[in-house]
Amino acid sequence: MSERKHVIILGGGITGLSAAFYVQKYAKETGKPVTFTLLESSSRLGGKIETITEDGYVIERGPDSYLARKTVMTDLVKEVGLEKDLVSNEMGQAYILHNMRLHPIPEGAVMGVPTKIMPFAFTPLFSIFGKARAGLDLVLPKRSDSSRDVSVGHFFRRRLGDEVVDRLIEPLLSGIYAGKIDHLSLQSTFPQFVETEKKHRSLILGMKKSQPKPVKTQQTEKKKGAFLTLKNGLSSFISALRNSLPEENIKMGAKADSVKRLEDGTYSVELEDGTVLAADHLIVTTPYAVTKKLFGEKMFPSDFHKTKPTSVATVAMEFNEDEVSFSLEGTGFVIAKSEKTSITACTWTSRKWPHTTPKGKVLLRCYVGRADDQGIVHESDEAILSKVLNDLKKIMGVDTKPKKYYVSRMIDSMPQYEVGHEEYIEQLRGTFEKELPGVLLAGAPYDGVGLPDCVNSARKAVERLLSK
Ligand SMILES: Cc1cc2nc3c(=O)[nH]c(=O)nc-3n(C[C@H](O)[C@H](O)[C@H](O)COP(=O)(O)OP(=O)(O)OC[C@H]3O[C@@H](n4cnc5c(N)ncnc54)[C@H](O)[C@@H]3O)c2cc1C
Repeated sequence: MSERKHVIILGGGITGLSAAFYVQKYAKETGKPVTFTLLESSSRLGGKIETITEDGYVIERGPDSYLARKTVMTDLVKEVGLEKDLVSNEMGQAYILHNMRLHPIPEGAVMGVPTKIMPFAFTPLFSIFGKARAGLDLVLPKRSDSSRDVSVGHFFRRRLGDEVVDRLIEPLLSGIYAGKIDHLSLQSTFPQFVETEKKHRSLILGMKKSQPKPVKTQQTEKKKGAFLTLKNGLSSFISALRNSLPEENIKMGAKADSVKRLEDGTYSVELEDGTVLAADHLIVTTPYAVTKKLFGEKMFPSDFHKTKPTSVATVAMEFNEDEVSFSLEGTGFVIAKSEKTSITACTWTSRKWPHTTPKGKVLLRCYVGRADDQGIVHESDEAILSKVLNDLKKIMGVDTKPKKYYVSRMIDSMPQYEVGHEEYIEQLRGTFEKELPGVLLAGAPYDGVGLPDCVNSARKAVERLLSK
């Protein structure tokens, strides 16, 4: 690369900001003359990430943490100087609501797959028939075409039966994707189970074998949780990323309206206000519906993301400790779909993440909005709160109003990875490479919705663009 190259990054969520960081890093490390401009349509960076810090509380409106084993995010947190702020979640019992009762998730259940016999055999969560059906996993053959993508529901129903799926696996897994388990792509969401089946045939035996052996630790050494966050909230990561980048390269209130490929192979991006910017490359991290509009329907496989992303809302509520009589021994609960509740999950945030809440207070965060029923998300704050409190009263006996609460709506926010997602992605990337070389798509609609997946997607996009 001899002459100066300019990369325009569309979108200032975690993917766009990470992409900007990696472009700058690449330019510094290689001495190559690469610059970037990041365009964010709103007046705030972070996209889905937004933290409220007030009166000693750290409240996340959207994502609250990330999976620690996906280390690409921790690496970036370290690179922007926030390693000292990393916090692991407190370990504790998680529950499932079934028949309006909270049942402890049986010990040894990994993403719902039982790996310990006794807790599973004695849980009242399943009938004897349900338990026996799950046990068939031990003898069932593997699928003859185990490389073909199927839905998460289809896969687990075949191996473990409907009861275990509907009462344990569905509430656990669809909480992450707010999607319909019988439509979600197994390959794109939980590829580890595809591998487990290929290698071990039985999920129960395979997951049992792949569990790390318990390491003997000193009594004083605390076991760490599987998630990480930042003590001042995830927005502090967004600020640190922003501060690591030159201010003049970030344009706020800059809504990309159209993109054109010019005869010399470069691109022009027109903003809503009529400003036109020139680019050699583009990294596009806007939500899928926006991206599709920018580049035109014909660039995208017709069935790709044919289900609209799900809308959800979170409701964070602050209480005085002495007003919540329920003993919060654990981290929270998820809810089987058959239950007639408005909430789909509740995190006992002050227990799971003690740093978020002042002493003597309780912070609860509930989710509303299901893939097949999102109406509630569009109701008023008061109406949503009232339904949430009604559920909490029935489930936990909480019979008081919060001192303060925040309803955060995330409209069309959870992309739905349907069966065949990987193939669509390959097709889509092939079309872009052919028709619009130098335009790369990154972020939640493509390479995984988790925050580390977004960081990784950005890093790979930059590597692909600039290593040429
Ligand atoms: C309620 C909720 C809870 C979640 N919880 C977790 C969690 O705990 N852990 C986890 O790992 N993941 C979680 N996720 C998923 C994760 O938050 C998202 O996948 C991730 O934040 C997406 O980041 P992104 O940068 O790809 O997209 P976004 O955050 O959507 O960013 C896209 C940006 O593009 C901007 N934009 C839109 N149109 C234009 C335009 N025309 N021009 C310029 N800019 C534009 C938007 O304003 C936005 O800032 C959660 C998601 C939701 C909705």
